[in-house]
Amino acid sequence: MSELDRIAVIVDDITRLEVDAIVNAANAELEAGGGVDGAIHDAAGPQLRTACRLIGGCEPGDAVATPGFQLPARHVIHAVGPVWKGGSANERMVLASCYRRALTVSRELGCTSIAFPCISTGVYGYPKHDAALVAIDTVRDDMRAHDTPREIIFCCHRQEDGEIYRAGLRAGRDK
Ligand code: ADP
Repeated sequence: MSELDRIAVIVDDITRLEVDAIVNAANAELEAGGGVDGAIHDAAGPQLRTACRLIGGCEPGDAVATPGFQLPARHVIHAVGPVWKGGSANERMVLASCYRRALTVSRELGCTSIAFPCISTGVYGYPKHDAALVAIDTVRDDMRAHDTPREIIFCCHRQEDGEIYRAGLRAGRDK
């Protein structure tokens, strides 16, 4: 079985997913914001805000976990992506690092399934195609090295993002 068989692309609201962990595109302060972060905080309930405040913050490129509280997902892994500054401020490295760290944290929690949003491609402005390729390459490399999590879902919120990921994975099959 190729690592690609363990990857799924869906178009959905990540807060609805019954997986072991969903990843949040968090900010470094771990304060409830807009976008997917706001949706996750709304769905998880106020305990998530308290848990995030207790942790206090997270560096870009890193990830930390909280329970999912009222979410169907057991855990939320808060990963902080880079703010896009034109491409010469280590954005690629920081984006890859937050996918790797989220996967490492998911293994520490014993997760078998994890869902990622398109980190940094909303308010943080990372170009969508480039971000998808970083996400796919990083996740594939990690999966070649590790048997868990068994199932990795790229959960896109928009149809067009789903198409970008599907095209990226199709291109990757030939590699
Ligand atoms: P960032 O600040 O990291 O750019 P955003 O939340 O602004 O984070 O956007 C990241 C991605 O999350 C965008 O592609 C956006 O379409 C997507 N998104 C927004 N709401 C949801 C949701 N409920 N489920 C999944 N993805 C979502």
